[in-house]
Formats: sequence, structure tokens, C-alpha cells
Amino acid sequence: MLSIRNLSKTFSSAGEPVHVLRGVDLDLRAGERVALTGESGSGKSTLLHLIAGLDAADGGTIRLEDTEVTRLSDAGRASLRRDRIGLVFQQFNLIPSLSVMDNLAFQARIAGRHDAAWTRELVERLGLDGLLKRYPEQLSGGQQQRVAIGRALATKPSLLLADEPTGNLDEATADDVLALTRDLVARTGCGFLMVTHSLHLAVTLDRHVTLHAGRIA
Ligand code: ATP
Ligand code: MG
Repeated sequence: MLSIRNLSKTFSSAGEPVHVLRGVDLDLRAGERVALTGESGSGKSTLLHLIAGLDAADGGTIRLEDTEVTRLSDAGRASLRRDRIGLVFQQFNLIPSLSVMDNLAFQARIAGRHDAAWTRELVERLGLDGLLKRYPEQLSGGQQQRVAIGRALATKPSLLLADEPTGNLDEATADDVLALTRDLVARTGCGFLMVTHSLHLAVTLDRHVTLHAGRIA
């Protein structure tokens, strides 16, 4: 479903090249849930950004289903992100001026992929029933992240990418949020790639890989 071959990315810092990714190979099967760990600065976020088309690779290929992401134009990458990739970040990134309900449906509406029955199911499974009219600032961190996960899955993406989604949550809330996410991902059959610093969480997914020295170890 996702196939990454020999992916490389170099940044320049004060005129010096920093080779962050040096030939990453990684495959995800449909429905597979994979944890990505690695020390700070090892390139985990960079890898997620390249998969999501938020940045361009220097070399190598990323294929998502029938699409070679690494060959898409900027516009092509934007529509890929809108239609087929769900993104969740550590900082939740909800839209402060929109209610929970509108935050949930926003992206799916823009993508023309809004499905009322599926959105209702997400609301129920994520336990958001009583919160739909609230605004993000009126929610706890765990509640905000549940909304962000609902928003990311509302479009029924092929792939859910999460960059330390539980990094701002206490351990019990992190466990709950990840358990809900695992179940929802299984329900949709999408792939799930999650960056985490927590080994305890990493081992609850189907597979655990580590970025080291620019490669998947
Ligand atoms: P963390 O666990 O701290 O989030 P990470 O594994 O996600 O770390 P990245 O954010 O991918 O690491 O960064 C990898 C390396 O690339 C770091 O050395 C970082 O300084 C560098 N880097 C990332 N983005 C840029 C950029 N836009 N310009 C220059 N260097 C960058
Ligand atoms: Mg990071």
C-alpha cells in the first residue's frame, strides 16, 4: 500500500549539508499499523513530511497505492494530502474559530468526501457526542486529540500519519487515545504510521521500526 525505496533528504544548515535521510526503505501493507521511533533529530518528522508531500525528497521513491508521490507536482501533492492522507500532530492543530462538529467535518467537506453516517460513527466511537458544540479551547488535550483524529479519518484516507500524537497527553490518556485510534484504523482498513518516543506505546502496534543514521534499522 505504501512503498518507500532509497529515500534521501538533505537540509543545509549554516551552509553545511545535513544528510537526514540516507536511503530509507519502508513498506506498509493495507491496514498495517506501524510505530516509528528514533532519537531526536533522526528524521522521523522529515520522513512523515515527505510521505505527506509537505516537502519534496532529494532522491528515491514514495508510492502510495497507484500514485508515485515523489513524482507529483505541488498541486498533486496537495490533493493527495486532502483526499488520501490523514495527518495528526502533537499540537492537535484544531481550528479555534470552529466548533468541534465543524472541525470534524471541515476537511472532509473541502475534499468532497463528507459522509454523514461515517462522521456520526466517528463521533460515537471517539466519545465526542456531548462536545460537538464546544470550541477547541473548551476541551482537554485528550478531547482535542480525539477531535483531531476524527477529522483526519473523516475523509476515509488510505493512510493515517501521526507525529507524536500522544506527546502532550498524560500516560493514561495517551493509552486511551491510541486504543481508540488503533480500533478506528482497523475499522477503516487504512495504513497507520505513528511516530512516538514511547516504547510502551510502540509495541502495541503491529510492527515497530526505528530510524537510525538516516535508515530504517
Ligand atoms: P524529534 O524527535 O525531536 O521530533 P525528528 O526525528 O522528528 O526529531 P526531524 O524534525 O525530522 O527529527 O529533523 C531531522 C534533522 O533535520 C534535524 O537535525 C533537524 O535540525 C533537521 N531539519 C529538519 N527540518 C529542517 C529544515 N527545514 N532546515 C534545516 N534543517 C532541518
Ligand atoms: Mg519530530
